[in-house]
Amino acid sequence: MSTPLHILKTQFGFDSFRSHQEAIIEAVLAGRDAFVLMPTGGGKSLCYQIPALLLPNVTVVISPLIALMKDQVDALRVAGVAAEYLNSSLSPEEQDRVLASLVRRKTKLLYIAPERLFGASSLVPFLQEVGVSLFAVDEAHCISAWGHDFRPEYRFLSDLKKFFSATPTVALTATADDLTSQDIVERLALHSPLFFKSSFDRPNIHYTIEPKAKSFERLIRYLATRRNDSGIVYTLSRKSADSVARRLTEAGFSALSYHAGLDASVRDKHQGRFLRDETKIIVATIAFGMGINKSNVRFVVHMDLPKNIESYYQETGRAGRDGLQSEALLFYSPADVQKLARFALVDGNEEQSVVMLRKLKQLADLCEANVCRRHLILRYFGEVFPESCDACDVCLSERTTFDGTLIAQKLLSAVFRLHERFGLGYTIDVLRGSKSEKIRPEHRAIKTFGAGTDTSREAWFRYAKDLIALGFLKQVGEPYPTLSLTEKSAAVLRGETRVMLTASVEVKKEVEVVIPAHEATLLDQLKALRTDYAQKENVPPYIIFSDATLLELATFLPSDISELARISGFGEVKTRRYGKAFLSVVATYCREHGLSSKMSEKISVRSRRKIR
Ligand code: ADP
Ligand code: MG
Repeated sequence: MSTPLHILKTQFGFDSFRSHQEAIIEAVLAGRDAFVLMPTGGGKSLCYQIPALLLPNVTVVISPLIALMKDQVDALRVAGVAAEYLNSSLSPEEQDRVLASLVRRKTKLLYIAPERLFGASSLVPFLQEVGVSLFAVDEAHCISAWGHDFRPEYRFLSDLKKFFSATPTVALTATADDLTSQDIVERLALHSPLFFKSSFDRPNIHYTIEPKAKSFERLIRYLATRRNDSGIVYTLSRKSADSVARRLTEAGFSALSYHAGLDASVRDKHQGRFLRDETKIIVATIAFGMGINKSNVRFVVHMDLPKNIESYYQETGRAGRDGLQSEALLFYSPADVQKLARFALVDGNEEQSVVMLRKLKQLADLCEANVCRRHLILRYFGEVFPESCDACDVCLSERTTFDGTLIAQKLLSAVFRLHERFGLGYTIDVLRGSKSEKIRPEHRAIKTFGAGTDTSREAWFRYAKDLIALGFLKQVGEPYPTLSLTEKSAAVLRGETRVMLTASVEVKKEVEVVIPAHEATLLDQLKALRTDYAQKENVPPYIIFSDATLLELATFLPSDISELARISGFGEVKTRRYGKAFLSVVATYCREHGLSSKMSEKISVRSRRKIR
């Protein structure tokens, strides 16, 4: 009898499960419904792929995009798993072949679009006939109008449990707040599902936010040190996507654009070249990304501000799926905030505009605050993360702080005395003892009036931002937010908490890319071999092996098949198919350079490294 761990090792070549993977697999195998919230790159696929290999009948995976289905099926087939997909890209003959293989019980995983399941030529009777062991609804947020990528076709899935009430269903997504999660569970009618929520932290992504100034020149300098890396550059408009791509090409970089204004065929061509590593950089609007599983995206640059923190997180999240160190760089300008605010007003109805503006402001606050970026991102998703991550520009910069408790007390006390009914500008005017007509006479009499004349207006704004970011103060209401105290304020006012404020921020250290010591030339040779196989098999290179796998090879230099089996990513089928060829490249290199196996330095139980 095989076990999940055995399948993980033999089929996929990995040593250990990540976070909740094993518990999810156990739950599903026990016939439970499950709801899985796990960030991009966390490893959601294995949560249903491994059960699929242990269950008697087929596992049906619902997926929103043809490109996603193809990518996953390609990857499974390369690993020796019998997987198929059914969608409009297949000819009627090909579809017949897929159905026939299901009847012969050859297929372990079937990927399918929701409309194919319940649409005009519904597959339900057929699937009831052949029997389904498990349904996996991938990108499950697509079923909810609250989610960020609602797809009407997903609504068909509400009928799933009507026809397959006894079949366990697992819903998986990387983006869902509580409201969306609840909505997904209700719409899919999951039977008392088990919830599995992983941290949203992406430890291998470094965050950097810089003021936007001469951003194209800065981009060129940034890319010049990353010539071998693949990355995405996001722009707000189609026009600037085209122009940045053109200027990068002129500057000698390998870049193509991607946006909704391009012909579908051109778009597909550009995307294909990027996925196959034939073009290093894709310059894109937000039209690009959904359904991109390319695991070796090393950096994501935002030339312009995204719409909100969710978008920023989603877009930067496309970096580093392979777990290797990756970077997110954003150029921030308050002018972008104004611009996006105007779009938000024009775009939606009033209620929607208010929400969009609030979310925009939260992102602007994140960009302006001198607080750990990761801390703020995770706080946005309701997670408690330490004050510092050591892997974002704020944490890596020389920030001098000073004891600002007294300043904090003055500001908080002013807010209190103004009954939490006034905005930041007014509160600062009161603190600075403004003579303006705007100040109400009764406020000239309160104790804090003029208590902060020794501090400039501009400095007060900065301190207030710090206090808000640190959670000692908050802004509520829109469109004209008022300042209000938080549960953390009282301790400051009573002098029980010391508050450290930012005095100055020194020139930031560039985020250091720490790659384990490895043979760089060998790595290039291994990549070339991978590309050969990828071309032969007509799949993107990352489907054959991830960069992480090749990096392990170039680091530990395995010398025979048994050592190779200990390299992450070499399952039995891949070892049989590609093992000899990769070993031979390593062997030749070692001979030429007088090197030998370093496998003894490899720790046997691999946990996903936090590369810090
Ligand atoms: P998600 O769907 O959550 O974005 P994927 O399922 O595509 O993530 O997995 C992301 C990457 O992590 C893939 O390259 C996958 O092979 C790898 N991976 C998943 N689980 C493990 C594990 N337990 N050990 C090593 N690598 C893993
Ligand atoms: Mg996925």
